[in-house]
Amino acid sequence: MTDKNSSMRQLPKVDEMIRCIASEGITNVPAVLVKLACQKEIELERQKILSGSPYQYSREDLIRRIKAEIEKQNQPHLRKVINGTGVVLHTNLGRARLSQMVSENMKEICGSYSNLEYDLETGERGTRYEHVEQLLTFLTGSEAALVVNNNAAAVYLVLNSVASGKEVIVSRGELVEIGGAFRVPEIMTASGCRLVEVGTTNKTHESDYEENINENTGALLKVHTSNYKIIGFTDEVSLERMKEVGKKHGLPLIYDLGSGLLVDLKAYGIGDEPTVRSCLEQSADIVCFSGDKLLGGPQAGIIVGKAEYINRMKKNHLLRALRIDKLTLTALELTLRQYLTPETAVVQIPTLKMITEPLENLKKKAELLHGLLVKRPEAHYEVTETTGQIGGGSMPGVNLSSYAVSITMEHLSADMLERMLRNNSVPIISRICKNKVLLDVRTMSEEDLFEAAEFLNKIINLKGDME
Ligand SMILES: *Cc1c(COP(=O)(O)O)cnc(C)c1O
Repeated sequence: MTDKNSSMRQLPKVDEMIRCIASEGITNVPAVLVKLACQKEIELERQKILSGSPYQYSREDLIRRIKAEIEKQNQPHLRKVINGTGVVLHTNLGRARLSQMVSENMKEICGSYSNLEYDLETGERGTRYEHVEQLLTFLTGSEAALVVNNNAAAVYLVLNSVASGKEVIVSRGELVEIGGAFRVPEIMTASGCRLVEVGTTNKTHESDYEENINENTGALLKVHTSNYKIIGFTDEVSLERMKEVGKKHGLPLIYDLGSGLLVDLKAYGIGDEPTVRSCLEQSADIVCFSGDKLLGGPQAGIIVGKAEYINRMKKNHLLRALRIDKLTLTALELTLRQYLTPETAVVQIPTLKMITEPLENLKKKAELLHGLLVKRPEAHYEVTETTGQIGGGSMPGVNLSSYAVSITMEHLSADMLERMLRNNSVPIISRICKNKVLLDVRTMSEEDLFEAAEFLNKIINLKGDME
């Protein structure tokens, strides 16, 4: 006990540490961050002493840790990372990357006033939805369009506007959960609709819908099973057949498409995902999808379809709670504008460019990264074939053949190297496969390759100096 007490007495007071840090020339940091860092690190010392494990106080170590903590706290928490995973729509890494053109234009809107809800022709109040409605109708062939915060909000608004207080029929094979607590049954309840499950997990027939329709039915819902596949003895009812059933009973057909492709990726040999336009042509009355999945734009929920239903959503008071922000609208409009020229959209929109990148280009990129790496006997670098994914719950069955640089370093486990890359000033997120760290070049820009190479060269030099 006396041991612990004497250790405690060695610890500096917070105020003294703050003065000490200031005397070290750290002055351009908000005082509150210095104080918090001193408090936190001194408290950690106290905990160490209290735990009773062997303890040796070092003032230099404490100062070093406080400085590191200050440096960490003094930069934005949300920041740029390099995606070396090869997963194009990595939900944890912010899904779709916006193009340079889009992000530059966002800067202008951030720093100035805009005509967000102002009609420049009449000088009167306008609506924020106008900026993208025509573009969306043009690009999808729909009568009307509306945008909200994300696709979960879109599904919620659609159900609430079209079938609140009524029953909505869904196949048991489509009761989807998307990561982050979006579940079809829960959304249904929250929107004020009653879920009526029909069919079985693997098979649902037209008659299953038909037999469950009654005077309380408000809509038929189809949900794209975007993040899983049911294979084997399966059957689902096509949009066309569902439409036939709906028409007979005067019920709207809603399709939660999830991803929302505006160009056909089948033409590039990738997946079998339908385009939004084809879903409307197959007579869905309402289709909703995400802005930051295969569309390659910002987080948003996009609703297209028949004007009679969209108008109801525009009048729904919930819309205000789900409304899209001006920065998002800027990014969405500009991304949609890139689709006006479909031939160039595929190279201008980073998501589409990365997904359709030819294998030989990826090999060249991996060779470029390999060439930038300083070769030392203790570092093993290899250009290797690998497979990536589209991610973001899109096209689960589709693997993207790709190239990576695999890295192993003597005296450094793959886990340690992965962590070091992640702790770089621009964090580099990699993947470990068979005890090797992989950097898949599909999701890395050329600038990212240079940054990664610089970091790897730095760590082997450090090791070299130590030996
Ligand atoms: C992704 C997805 C959602 C949720 O979309 P967010 O934009 O992430 O809110 C809903 N339904 C389906 C079928 C999806 O794939």
